[in-house]
Amino acid sequence: MTDSEAEPGRCEVYSPLMSGGLIYLDNAATSWPKPPQVGAAIADFLAHKAGNPGRGGHRLARAAGDVVEQARERLAAEINAPCSKRMILTHGCTDAVNLAVHGVLRAAQRACCERKPHVVVSGIEHNAILRTVHCYQNDGHITMDIVPCDAQGVVSAEAVAAVCRDDTVLVCVAHASNAAGTIQDAAGIAKAVRAKAPDALFMVDAAQTVGHLKVDVQAIGIDLLAIAGHKGLLGPTGTGGLYVSEKAYPETGDSRVFCQRRGGTGMKSVGLDMPTELPDALEAGTSNACGFAGLIAAMDARDPGAHEREMEHTARMLYELRGMPGVTVHGLPGVENRTPVVLFSIEGQHPRAVGDVLDADHGICVRGGTHCAPLLHQLIGTGDDGAVRVSPGWKTTGGEVERFLEAVRSLAASPARSP
Ligand code: PMP
Repeated sequence: MTDSEAEPGRCEVYSPLMSGGLIYLDNAATSWPKPPQVGAAIADFLAHKAGNPGRGGHRLARAAGDVVEQARERLAAEINAPCSKRMILTHGCTDAVNLAVHGVLRAAQRACCERKPHVVVSGIEHNAILRTVHCYQNDGHITMDIVPCDAQGVVSAEAVAAVCRDDTVLVCVAHASNAAGTIQDAAGIAKAVRAKAPDALFMVDAAQTVGHLKVDVQAIGIDLLAIAGHKGLLGPTGTGGLYVSEKAYPETGDSRVFCQRRGGTGMKSVGLDMPTELPDALEAGTSNACGFAGLIAAMDARDPGAHEREMEHTARMLYELRGMPGVTVHGLPGVENRTPVVLFSIEGQHPRAVGDVLDADHGICVRGGTHCAPLLHQLIGTGDDGAVRVSPGWKTTGGEVERFLEAVRSLAASPARSP
């Protein structure tokens, strides 16, 4: 088969050890393949629209600016933001988290020097949040509570509320664990936090849910929502967004998000202060317009049946892996409250070695290790080594799932391996 004959979006990578094409089951890291429209939109942008968005009034600058504003509107609509200017475009979810965490903590420090701001994070958090908050704690600038999850990766709303105080400025919870796939009751947590600490901002890391689940920031009661464009939304890497609520950034009055990133916005260039209007106030520098052109195309090309198929594959994997001698499946028992992610271990085999063998011998891409979520692994009992994460995507077929299961079965029956 030549490249031009290959199924669109499908990369045929052959090795003597593989009976077919590459099997990509690492969609929780980044989705692949991207719809073919993504590459086409990026090529079109580069050929016809690649001015600097919002900088200058000529046609290419306007064309690029239109793409950026369209992406903002699409992302805002995706999460039911009350208006698109509250969607700050970022280079990914980590970038969005950094904007929010540094922004809230710097604003809190500037507002009050006597009392250290208090921050609450959950035990399922990704390092995007953990490391960003930790650097303030390490420097003695904040006090902090970490709310553990249970053995299945569930964070209880009551436990989060229990540690909230009148000086809590920020509560951060991942909507779903990137390692175990456990979806949290974000609305329940938001409600409990509001009742105990009405001034605290509730931030949700939605890297693993936007594009998979309907996320409605207004219905849930979210103040800050961090989004990745390159996972469930199927866009290119280097795209993402941060939703900022009225509570976090009031239309009038003091903002509770101080933007450390400063620079040109293309508007009101005279004066050394940043503009105070959203989105410019939080969005300095040239945005990844090229990537956002791809993200818009990805969102247009989404297959409405994809999530259901992914969950069917997830159910099949859960069922089969649970029945395999030597294999332990971690997390919730079934597909309820789960993203299309399964976390498992093979007795006596290091998770990274399992990932390496699946790749080298079977052409199957999964991720072994701690998935940048070190606390979760301590809490669910998979420790410093972590486990193997498998995450089907929109293009995954039943045949690929069977080949994956067969490969794990043969590995589980083979002698122990270390990385
Ligand atoms: N948070 C979670 C829960 C994630 O899964 C990821 C990606 N692994 C991130 C944050 C970081 O996202 P990005 O790669 O877009 O910076």
